[in-house]
Amino acid sequence: MKRRDFLKNCSVALTGSLLLSGCKNSEQNEEGQITRRKFKNISMPLLGLGCMRLPMKNNQIDMDELNTMVDYCIQHGANYFDTAYRYVDYKSEIAIGKALSRYNRKDFLLADKSPLRFLKAEKDIDRIFQEQLRKCQVDYFDFYMAHNINVNTYDKFKQFDMYNELLKYKKDGKIKYMGFSFHGSTEMLKELIDEHKWDFCMLQMNYLDWNVVKAKEQYELVEKAKIPVIVMEPLRGGGLVKLPEEALQKLHSEEPDTTPANFGLRWVASRKNVITVLSGMSNINQVKENINTFTNYKVMTEEEEQTAEEIAKIIQSQGEINCTACKYCTEVCPKGINIPAIFALYNQYKITNDKRFFLIYYNSLAESEKASNCIKCGVCNSNCPQSLNIPELLAKINEEVVQG
Ligand code: SF4
Ligand code: SF4
Repeated sequence: MKRRDFLKNCSVALTGSLLLSGCKNSEQNEEGQITRRKFKNISMPLLGLGCMRLPMKNNQIDMDELNTMVDYCIQHGANYFDTAYRYVDYKSEIAIGKALSRYNRKDFLLADKSPLRFLKAEKDIDRIFQEQLRKCQVDYFDFYMAHNINVNTYDKFKQFDMYNELLKYKKDGKIKYMGFSFHGSTEMLKELIDEHKWDFCMLQMNYLDWNVVKAKEQYELVEKAKIPVIVMEPLRGGGLVKLPEEALQKLHSEEPDTTPANFGLRWVASRKNVITVLSGMSNINQVKENINTFTNYKVMTEEEEQTAEEIAKIIQSQGEINCTACKYCTEVCPKGINIPAIFALYNQYKITNDKRFFLIYYNSLAESEKASNCIKCGVCNSNCPQSLNIPELLAKINEEVVQG
C-alpha cells in the first residue's frame, strides 16, 4: 500500500473509533486494534505513547524511527500521544508535532503540560501555552495538565491561579480536558481534588510502587472522587522490564508465555479506573510488543495479581533503588551529578552482580558526574518524587561498588 493511502485509511478508521456514539460497553476491542475504554463522550486507547524517551541517533531525535512508531501506533488504534515542555531537552513537542502533522487533527489525541517549575510569573502560563501549540503544530490540545504538582510546585499552582487559567483554555476550546500530573503527598492530592473539578489526572502506578510509594492509596482516593486516571511509569522507567533473576524465574514459572513488559502493562490496565497507560517507548520493537499486549488484552486473574505481589516483594528484597529516571534531581544538583545514571547502573549491578560492567559504564561518566562529588547538601531530596535519600544512596554506592 502506498504511504499516502495508508495514512488515509488510518484516518478513516480512527475517525469512527474516536466517537463512542451510544456504545454501552466500557471496553471495546475491534480486530487488529488495541482495547479502548470509554471516557466522557470519546473512547480512549488503553495504550498511549509517552514522548519522554524518544528514539535517538547521533544525539538527535531519530525522526524516521519516530514516524515509523507513530504510524504503527495509529494503524493499531493507539492514537494517544503524551508530551511535555521539557521532555528530550525541550525537543519532544517539536518532534511529535512533526510526526503527527502527517495526520488529520481529529485522528489523534495529543496531551501536553504546563511546566509549573519553569513559571516565574502568571503571564508565563499563556506565553508557554502558545509556544507549545506552535511547537506541536496544533490549535488545541485534547488533554492539558498542570505538570508535576508536588511539594515544590503546589504553592506556585495556587499563587498563579493555574486552575482558572486552564479552565479559561477549556472554555475557549483550546483544551478539551483538563487535569494534572502528580508526585505529592496523599494529603495534597485530597486538597487538590476537593477544591477543584478535574476531568482526569495522571498518576505513577505499577505493581512495585503500589504499596512502596502510596500509589494504591492515591489511586483509591481519585477513584472514589470519580476522576479517571492516566498512568505514567507503568514499567518504572524500564525497571520492571529487566527483572532480577529470581523475580524473572517466578514470572516464568507462573506465566510461561508472558514477558515482564506484558505482565507489568496488563497489571496497570487491570485497574478499572485507568483510561490509558502511557509507555515511554523508544523503538519500533517496543511499540510492537506493547501493541500486541493491548490487542490481545485480558484483565489479570486473581492468581496473576498474587504473582505480581510476590514479584514486587522479591524485587524489594534485592535492594533495588526505586528511581524512575525522571531527572528532577539533576535539575537542582549544584555539582551536576548524574544521579539517575548511577542508580540505574547500581540496580543493574544488583541484578547481575557484574562489577566489571558497572565500572566500565561508571568510568565513562565525566568526573563531575560521579558520586564522590556529592557534597551532601540534600537539595535533590526535596525534588525526588520517589522520596529517595539521594546523598545517602550515592555514598553507599561509592563505598560498596566504586571503592569496594
Ligand atoms: S546532595 Fe549531592 S547529589 Fe544531591 S544535590 Fe547535593 S550534591 Fe547533588
Ligand atoms: S533519584 Fe529521584 S528525582 Fe532523581 S531521577 Fe531518580 S526518581 Fe527522579
